[in-house]
Amino acid sequence: MIKVAKFGGSSVAGAEQFKKVKAIVDADPARRIVVSSAAGKRDGGDHKLTDLLYLCHAHITYGVSCDDIAASIRERLVGIRDELGLTLDIGSEVDAMLSKLNRDTSVDELVSRGEYFTSKLMAEYLGYRFVDAADCVLFGLDGQIDREKTYAAIRSALEAYDRIVIPGFYGKLPTGKIKVMTRGGSDITGALAAAAVDADIYENWTDVSGILMADPRIVENPAPIAKITYAELQELAFMGASVLHEDSIAPVKEKGIALNIRNTNRPEDEGTLIVDSVDEENGEQERFITGIAGRRNFTILTVKKHNMNTTNSLRQALEIFDRYHAPVEHITLGLDSFALVTSTAALGDSVYDVIADMQKAVRPDDIHVQEGISLVATVGRKMSFQPGTSGRLFHALGRNGINIRTIAQGADEISIIVGVENKDFENAIRVLYDRFAG
Ligand code: ASP
Repeated sequence: MIKVAKFGGSSVAGAEQFKKVKAIVDADPARRIVVSSAAGKRDGGDHKLTDLLYLCHAHITYGVSCDDIAASIRERLVGIRDELGLTLDIGSEVDAMLSKLNRDTSVDELVSRGEYFTSKLMAEYLGYRFVDAADCVLFGLDGQIDREKTYAAIRSALEAYDRIVIPGFYGKLPTGKIKVMTRGGSDITGALAAAAVDADIYENWTDVSGILMADPRIVENPAPIAKITYAELQELAFMGASVLHEDSIAPVKEKGIALNIRNTNRPEDEGTLIVDSVDEENGEQERFITGIAGRRNFTILTVKKHNMNTTNSLRQALEIFDRYHAPVEHITLGLDSFALVTSTAALGDSVYDVIADMQKAVRPDDIHVQEGISLVATVGRKMSFQPGTSGRLFHALGRNGINIRTIAQGADEISIIVGVENKDFENAIRVLYDRFAG
């Protein structure tokens, strides 16, 4: 059995966290691949190593000394080394990097060192072999991960060394240059490693005991989600529930590998298990819905014209939105009207141009713009093909005086998304939670 354990920044923030990681890794010999983020925040006033490195680069670019920041990076790493009694000469390695810094230093190369140094310390502490991501996470010339080459490289590293630590977040381009992923990218490295070796499970260790059914800033003490499918997670993540880097899902999902979100500070908690499908027959899912998430600040643009050819006008309208890079989230269609929902921020000042273009193309009787709309998604695999679900949902909202502006149901019926006014956003989530999960 092989388990890939990825530890996020807060899990490797300092020596105390390193100790927790070691206890977790030592507790199960199947945890043969460890992927580490860069040391994160130890407390509220602290900084992530990655942020400090980005800041360093900005200083150099503008010709401002970054000595103070560099000193705090060095101190942080040497501190972990000393507290854990390790022998790695991390001070000299950091100094060598710092002495080479100049205006031409690539930002990717510099910020990748957060993961690089943290993982080197972790490898020594765990007694695992350090395998540089530059040697096993390989990008193609198009800037995308070359999965085949990456999988082969990770597989042979594991075969050669048996227990390895790979730094997350970066890899190498065919030109030999380091390339970093987008923020939070260590999740992707973990997923690639799990897919490469056909791991039995991909454990993503963080500082929360899994995904909650709703945002705890809105709902008091929301219940944790024990099991969720990849499809449900994608719906929730798209609607604002942030847990994992979205690109980390595909590699494991494709291979049918389950992903377990775990809490480094509470390893006794089982966390959230993300799977391809759930065997409902076994009564594994006790709740009707899996989670509720939402996003604020959408705009609805309603176009009305008597006897219009809706299909043709809709096509023109979509082309206009596309031209102004405003993604259409929802479409409501009537006989003589249609409404498009888009993110207010994405539309920006283009809203006037969009209206002008629309007036030219569609020649409508009326165009109406309403800002300040929130979308709230209720997600649950059990909802599909269950008569009466939307009725219950609308009834709950209606009884609480919440007006629904738009309604959309995913084609697979695992989500129902309603558009409400921003002022009703939090209340809508609370009402739905109480109705279906409380
Ligand atoms: N250290 C990087 C970040 O802060 C990548 C990661 O932690 O996954 O975004």
